[in-house]
Amino acid sequence: MKTGLYLFDTKEREVLEIAASNGQTVRIYCCGPTVYRDAHVGNLRTFLLSDLIVRTLNYSNIKTLLIQNITDVGHMGEDFEGNEIGEDKILSQASSEAKDPFDIARLYEARFHEDLSLLNVIPANNYPRASETIELMISLIKKLISKGHAYLGSDRTVYFDVRTFESYGAISGNRLDSLKPGHRYEYVDDGAKRFHADWALWKAAGNRTQMVWDSPWGIGFPGWHIECSAMSLELLDGAVDLHLGGIDLRFPHHENERAQSNAAVDREVVTNWVHGEHLLFEGRKMSKSANNVVLLKDLVARDLDPLSLRLALLENRYRSQMDLTWDSLKAANSTLNKWREKFADTSGEVDSQILEDKSKEIATNFNQDLDSPRAVQKLRKLEKDESINPATKRAIAEKVDQLFGLDLTRKAAQKRQPKEELLQMLNSRAIARQNKEFKASDEMRDQLLANGISVRDTPLGQEWDWL
Ligand code: AMP
Ligand code: ZN
Repeated sequence: MKTGLYLFDTKEREVLEIAASNGQTVRIYCCGPTVYRDAHVGNLRTFLLSDLIVRTLNYSNIKTLLIQNITDVGHMGEDFEGNEIGEDKILSQASSEAKDPFDIARLYEARFHEDLSLLNVIPANNYPRASETIELMISLIKKLISKGHAYLGSDRTVYFDVRTFESYGAISGNRLDSLKPGHRYEYVDDGAKRFHADWALWKAAGNRTQMVWDSPWGIGFPGWHIECSAMSLELLDGAVDLHLGGIDLRFPHHENERAQSNAAVDREVVTNWVHGEHLLFEGRKMSKSANNVVLLKDLVARDLDPLSLRLALLENRYRSQMDLTWDSLKAANSTLNKWREKFADTSGEVDSQILEDKSKEIATNFNQDLDSPRAVQKLRKLEKDESINPATKRAIAEKVDQLFGLDLTRKAAQKRQPKEELLQMLNSRAIARQNKEFKASDEMRDQLLANGISVRDTPLGQEWDWL
């Protein structure tokens, strides 16, 4: 069944219509968080992608089944480089916080759900945890061994034999012959792998004592890539209509997942691979070392509505790299407040024809490869359109908010009131300015600024805002 939703498919390198292969429900898998720290606004951009897709399909009355995994074991510090060395991210965080690794995992998992809820992300149907899916992974690994796609190394680690999977590299273009054993692929396991690009499905515990399980190959723990194959094959009945994740997961994570899943069932498991581009902050990649990691709670601390992040992200299409700034977040925050004030007006009669036409136009933008920037433009226009009465505008906003998820008809936020002495200063400054006492009014402006309040003079008088 076709859905009318078109998205850019990374593997086919073109915009394609998404379909429900079972004729009823679009089955979606989205790689979830590794729960060793709070999600930053970049991670949240990727999690918003699945929400926009689910909302767009549901708006057209199409059912969805979304699975998002929780990686609470097996994601090694260096996995993203293709190497199998490095420490498990959860274990290293647990040791630096002097806590039990499962406590760390559950803490950040709970925070992840809180963030999603603040961002109005509709929850997935299921959030399976890697640590609770071990049996499933073991049986998939057994199957891969029995079909000749995996082998037990001399180090008691089970590896995927990548040379048995011919179309490796189809998503990212990183074909095996171009994957030279350079620094990214140097293996450190002393010859335990047959080929430099093979990766671990099950790792021998070695000295590790926490987060380990028994298996047919001895005590150990699963690799990161196998969890997504095991979960998607099991929970989506062996057919994934749409697989999502951030662009960095295209290789090796998704190449490896595709190889494992297809090799296990001898067919193409995922129909469409869709990736969200990365988010920069103030022009730079977010990283701990650059000290520019921004979390949702940092917005809240600055008195910004968490949904201002949602609006700022919607102003860019999911597959273009985007630079987020504090200025764009502040602008989005004021826009949201302004819209909510405007859309609170219920005067007039709802014109059902206009309601239908305008909401259809906006839904079309979402269906066309999630053209959210254009949809946001339509909202801006609608708010200003003098030819449409307030009741109709409100009805449109209410309807299309099923797509935007911005709480457009929520009561506008009350601006936090300044302390009494600052309020008095604001008053005094307005009077000084009216009386053309510029020196005094400039001095008061500077004092207000030092207290976090910016003032602006407009033809209608003085306006102020929190910095
Ligand atoms: P992690 O918790 O590190 O496994 O990442 C969760 C998701 O966030 C993955 O799909 C990543 O691809 C994605 N991601 C990581 N960094 C960024 C970023 N700066 N912008 C957008 N998505 C990101
Ligand atoms: Zn994954």
